Amino acid sequence: MPTIGNVQIKLLEKLCNACAVSGDEGEVRKIILEELKGFTGEIKVDALGNILVTRPGTGEKRLKVMLSAHMDEVGFMLVADDGEGLFRFETIGGVDIRQLPGKAVLVGRDHLPGVIGARPIHMTTTEERKQKIPLDALRIDLGPGGCKVSLGDRATFATRFQRNGSVIIAKALDNRLGVVTLIELIKNAPPNIDLVAAFTVQEENGLRGAKVAAYAFNPDLAIVVDSTPAFDLPGWEGDENISYNTKLGLGPAIYIADTGTLSDPRLVRYLSATAQAEGIPFQFRQPGRGGTDAGSIHISRAGVPSVSISVPHRYSHTAASIARLDDWKNSLALLHAALNQITPELVKTGRP
Ligand SMILES: [Zn+2]
Repeated sequence: MPTIGNVQIKLLEKLCNACAVSGDEGEVRKIILEELKGFTGEIKVDALGNILVTRPGTGEKRLKVMLSAHMDEVGFMLVADDGEGLFRFETIGGVDIRQLPGKAVLVGRDHLPGVIGARPIHMTTTEERKQKIPLDALRIDLGPGGCKVSLGDRATFATRFQRNGSVIIAKALDNRLGVVTLIELIKNAPPNIDLVAAFTVQEENGLRGAKVAAYAFNPDLAIVVDSTPAFDLPGWEGDENISYNTKLGLGPAIYIADTGTLSDPRLVRYLSATAQAEGIPFQFRQPGRGGTDAGSIHISRAGVPSVSISVPHRYSHTAASIARLDDWKNSLALLHAALNQITPELVKTGRP
């Protein structure tokens, strides 16, 4: 029975502190391949950089079940050198420009330190401070002299992983939480299914890796493992916040629908019934913006019944997110129970 202990938390720390902005996932890929050394199934890296893992089961009449977790994170790419250590940059993935000024970043494979520069308070007027600073006006600043970076290099927030009891604060919890979960599920793969697992690239810029991974695997069904925003802060001016899409502490979030996918209702029911039977808390992620690799997977080839399940975290796609260990543990427990109990009838009897 897989669980989240010190080993898994240490691995999460290593993965969150690694930099893997979309299209340059090498650092995270290396850590995963290292973790899977000695694994008896087949492991390969495809042309786009997805890690594809195949572990056949031993039972009779097995479904081919695809699990998917994206390796990449949102961030930045250097696009022009203005000299003096200053670089223009583009954002990669959904990043809120308002949150960027003043943030420390790490640039390139060598993690060179930089800062997203903005004029300090001393040199701005009250009027200027009310304005949003456009991306054009921001630079990644490595300081004058001696920087060894290249155009095309990626940059990401410089936040280091921290833990305080059951609370984790880090960058890229979306989706390093899913990556560790997937590693545990692969290491504890049940015999009743043929497990095919993808650690995908370029989710944050259009679910691109998952598209080719699903084509290669051609699975009977897919479960995407991700981390989703929790907008569960109290309202201000006395209003109660009733619009949260997920809430910390309520357990894994099962998706009914998101921007890119209407989840297969049989899989939604199956996951929620399994959670109830096992006494695992869960919540339904409220429909709305955002999506997962399921958006690509469910429309690959002749169609793949798909669902997503996520660990909720606050402050998604920013320099620092917050998640709870118990939500993560319960997500792993639910996925493990669900995989163990899958029978061919789940999707082979046709859509009701
Ligand atoms: Zn994600």
